[in-house]
Amino acid sequence: MFIEPYHNQHQQNEKRTGWIEVVCGSMFSGKTEELIRRLNRAKIAKQKVEIFKPALDTRYHEENIVSHNSLMIRSTPIQSSQEILLLSGDCDVVGIDEVQFFDSGIVEVVNNLANSGKRVIVAGLDMDFQGKPFGEMPALMAIAEYITKVHAVCVVCGDVANYSYRKTAAQEQVMLGETDSYEARCRKCFHL
Ligand SMILES: [Zn+2]
Repeated sequence: MFIEPYHNQHQQNEKRTGWIEVVCGSMFSGKTEELIRRLNRAKIAKQKVEIFKPALDTRYHEENIVSHNSLMIRSTPIQSSQEILLLSGDCDVVGIDEVQFFDSGIVEVVNNLANSGKRVIVAGLDMDFQGKPFGEMPALMAIAEYITKVHAVCVVCGDVANYSYRKTAAQEQVMLGETDSYEARCRKCFHL
């Protein structure tokens, strides 16, 4: 399990450093659950938390990040990465779900937030259904202080799974709200 880094006590007027955490993995790996776990713990500590997700992800409820086991947390759906800078204000922690769907500006936005002293936690698919790196995830992983790759269980053989296998012939990279069309598979079974 990811353990938050310990930062030394700072002088009262001294600004804390920010940092970036990436939670990545395939579908059904528990990425969103892990994001919610970290955000809820920050909330319990009375830190100001803002949560964003791409507006195109309309699965389940419009306003909530909902992980597949229905742990819920309120989030703001937004159209472009720039809106995150405008809306994150004076919060301590910024959470972003489904970050692989954002435009390429997301990398600079996340960097700017961390540079301004915020803890930024992003969660997203590291690979698409073809096993290729998804969107800006590689760049986000490069600039992050901490990366956690979570895994699913292969539906075919029960080994550790890190691929999102698409069961239909559709070829577009983004197929929203279609979780039934995927299953988690290990490397061997993904290439069957
Ligand atoms: Zn397998």
